[in-house]
Amino acid sequence: MLSLKKLLDLHDKSREIRLPYRRFSFELFLELLEQKCASHPTRLKEQIGTSIEGRPIYAISFGTGSTRVLLWTQMHGNESTATRAFFDFFNASVAHPEYFEKVFESLTIVFIPVLNPDGMARFQRANAIGIDPNRDARAQQTPEIKSLLTFAKNFEPDWCFNLHDQRNLFSVKGSTNPATVSFLSPSHFGNDRKNRLDAKQMVVALSNEIQTLIPNCMGRFDEEYYPRAIGEKFQEMGYRTILIEAGGAPNDPEREVARKMNFLLFCSAFHLIGSENWKKRPDRDYYAIPENDQKMVDLLIKGVTLHQNGHSIVLDIAIERVEENAPNVQGFIYKSIVKDLGDLKEYGGYEVIDAQGYYLHSALELNAAASFVLKSDSKGDLKIENGFILE
Ligand SMILES: [Zn+2]
Repeated sequence: MLSLKKLLDLHDKSREIRLPYRRFSFELFLELLEQKCASHPTRLKEQIGTSIEGRPIYAISFGTGSTRVLLWTQMHGNESTATRAFFDFFNASVAHPEYFEKVFESLTIVFIPVLNPDGMARFQRANAIGIDPNRDARAQQTPEIKSLLTFAKNFEPDWCFNLHDQRNLFSVKGSTNPATVSFLSPSHFGNDRKNRLDAKQMVVALSNEIQTLIPNCMGRFDEEYYPRAIGEKFQEMGYRTILIEAGGAPNDPEREVARKMNFLLFCSAFHLIGSENWKKRPDRDYYAIPENDQKMVDLLIKGVTLHQNGHSIVLDIAIERVEENAPNVQGFIYKSIVKDLGDLKEYGGYEVIDAQGYYLHSALELNAAASFVLKSDSKGDLKIENGFILE
């Protein structure tokens, strides 16, 4: 196994430079996939299904070993971080085959990048008819979920990785830190079976691999059982299943930190599976990972004074930079709103400013546009425009 430093270096060299943004078209995805698979015929590409609007769903395989690993990305069409990390992994495996020789001897790894291409085309969570594929594992009506299930039943994976993005508001419980990566070993109905316990041990091992890079920025989803979710379904089918959610980090609107973590987690998982080193830590350590919470905001302004009708009130202001799809290079614009007001001590901010000594002339309105001026007698005005501080 490469050292963390070497893996980071490998990612820097392998990062797919044509994917700098979270929003990119399905056409670009196909172009990249076809180009890469054509020049590296050992990476087998197979169409495993077709979306409602006729877009292909592909599986790409690496290696020829007897242990089978299945990963899928973008089941939610607007969650592309793991798809970008998949291309980074592809590039790394081609540029430095020597690092992956052993892994590809012991494992057969199959990625299904972009399970929900119609959702991706619209950059939305649901598929073309508004159904959340991750709530269709019981009814099994969408072609996306049918394709995944049919493929999995034939492939019989030993390990499954369900790769998502979570919204910026996810934080680590008991802290003001973002959950840059969150994990879950999905629940069974009833008592844990062996495959769930194994998946918990894998989560412990994986979190251990990256904890020095994102200290106290990893969360764990709670034990709630979702009968319609694919993770629960797979866990019930006896496949060891792990959910990984890519989340926010400061100054990182395009999720490059989580993308890098995804890459490291892929490499680590393959190595841990091949070496069986995932067994080293007890499954109970899973609960030492703090739970996810929902306390992050994009901009947190602390300690502003409001003078209103003879009242003098000190308050914090939470601002959310809401993204709206738009035809510019990043693919979106911000429509920032005032999310919360008052005593927000438990909140964390990707950007935090101490505004003691500043005051508001009139009250702000919840959910209104986040454009206002903070006054100060000694420091001059502080202008907030669409959720950003104007320098
Ligand atoms: Zn998701």
